[in-house]
Amino acid sequence: MIKLMKYFKKTDWIIIFISIVLIAGQVWFELTLPDYVKEITTLVSTEGSSINEVLIAGVKMLACALGSMFLAIIVGYFVSRLASNFSYSIRGKVFNKISEFGDAEMKKFSTPSLITRTTNDITQIQMLIAMGLQVIIKAPILSIWAIIKIFGKSWELSIVVMVSVAVLVITIALVVTLVLPKFKVIQKQIDGINRVADESLSGVKVVRAFNADKYQANKFEDVNDKLTKTNLFTMRTLSVLQPVLNLVMSGLSLAIYYVGSILINNAPYSERLSVLGDVVSFSSYGGYVVMSFIMLSMIFMILPRAQVSAKRMNEVIDEDISVKEGTKSFTQNNGTIEFKNVSFKYPNADENTLLDISFKIEKGETLAIVGTSGSGKSTLVNLIARLYDATSGEVLIDGENIKDYNFACLYSKIGYIPQKSVVFSDTVKNNICFGESEKEITEDDVLNAIDIAQAKEFVDSMPLKYDSDIAQGGINISGGQKQRLSIARAIAKKPEILIFDDSFSALDFKTDKKLRDNLDNKLSGTTKVVVASRIGTIKNADKIIVLEDGKIVGFGSHNDLMQNCDMYKEIALSQLSMQELKG
Ligand code: ADP
Repeated sequence: MIKLMKYFKKTDWIIIFISIVLIAGQVWFELTLPDYVKEITTLVSTEGSSINEVLIAGVKMLACALGSMFLAIIVGYFVSRLASNFSYSIRGKVFNKISEFGDAEMKKFSTPSLITRTTNDITQIQMLIAMGLQVIIKAPILSIWAIIKIFGKSWELSIVVMVSVAVLVITIALVVTLVLPKFKVIQKQIDGINRVADESLSGVKVVRAFNADKYQANKFEDVNDKLTKTNLFTMRTLSVLQPVLNLVMSGLSLAIYYVGSILINNAPYSERLSVLGDVVSFSSYGGYVVMSFIMLSMIFMILPRAQVSAKRMNEVIDEDISVKEGTKSFTQNNGTIEFKNVSFKYPNADENTLLDISFKIEKGETLAIVGTSGSGKSTLVNLIARLYDATSGEVLIDGENIKDYNFACLYSKIGYIPQKSVVFSDTVKNNICFGESEKEITEDDVLNAIDIAQAKEFVDSMPLKYDSDIAQGGINISGGQKQRLSIARAIAKKPEILIFDDSFSALDFKTDKKLRDNLDNKLSGTTKVVVASRIGTIKNADKIIVLEDGKIVGFGSHNDLMQNCDMYKEIALSQLSMQELKG
């Protein structure tokens, strides 16, 4: 929590300072009240006092109560403003940091957990500031001031107050020790709920088709049950606090009056009135001391949870991003890609996924990568798109290590089409001109890209053509159409290198063929890297890499590989007849 405090702005500190002053005023009003109670008690017990004197003291009491209420309202206003502004800025900070995350960080935290962190966790902190700040400021002022008021007046009554405080402190300490570890568990369990809900909702079709509603419901019930149990435990434990606090408060009054009555009885007659005054003071101020501890106990209910949330927030903000942006811009445009002894291991994996990969392709060439599933094809292209950095060795684009490039320059050179197409809830056109590019994307570029990507026919059939809206997640278009829009988006920015990570998989053979012809004829100067499982798709590539368990087991053209790579021959023959392969 302390670490997060550095995100308070100067104005926030001013608000906190004003709140402290106002709360001190509020406490002053509250603590002045018992003085008047004492005055009225004395007036009533003294013969010859006039009713007017009692009334005046009563009006002053009322003024104090109103003053305290008025200040409380102002403080409440300031503090809730502070809390919502703080959560606004911290939410922005966390979101911006998450935007910098690469694949490795996303997988480390997981999407559901990041959602909890940007919503529920921030709410916990907002609640702590909104409710807790007033109490944190008020409780110490109130207790110290109240102690000063009764200090040295009666050691007997002081002991009564001290015993009450001791009982309170012990109870609070016990409860907090039991509950504190559970708060951490609760936030993790909320992550779990989000994970199962996310899985069930995004996989709703599969769940339905496989009649797995009950199975998923059971999974949800399981995590829900666990969260409920932990919540119940913490709530039940915390619920012990309230009755104990009430007991202590009432017990305190009772004890003060009991001890007070003995003190009054034992006092000489002339001093009895002054002892009575002390008893009245103790019953009020002692009450305030105990109340300030009760307030602090409220903090102990909110603080541990906010503490856990703050830690989770800091984990995101302080995360060291593994793929760091380089600083240079390179203007050469020779479209080459080179791997020099590249090996790669995923952050949590035990073994290398890619091992000692070296190759080079020139401008305008097409490189195809084939291999069984899990052989490392996507991983290899992910390294070109710098979604991960090579563990050892170098990846060079245009002869420069990609780690040296700034992102704007690197991503203006690369057009990457991921395995799973992504479209945004926006118009077709905005989906294609997506993002900022060093080169301006003109209307002609968009039309040209739509044409090359074989998307013209279906875009033309949409009501507003390329101004038509795509729904969130692309639910109003088919998988193949989504894939073609993804391809058009990469082509429109006219990159030097196009990377297709199995991006033709949802296309029918005819569209696939036309698209490849277009790429060959209209984008002959663009270097292309194609991951494909269909041999037909990559047969004409200039160079083909055959991967097996992360190692290159074949490199060359289709004809070369048919002759001297058994692995390639096996894959090819499993898909096409000898006749088709020759043709
Ligand atoms: P391909 O594209 O050839 O099917 P991938 O490159 O996707 O294969 O995966 C290669 C291997 O790396 C697989 O064994 C897979 O389990 C592993 N892998 C992929 N992504 C990750 C990841 N984020 N963390 C750990 N291992 C991964």
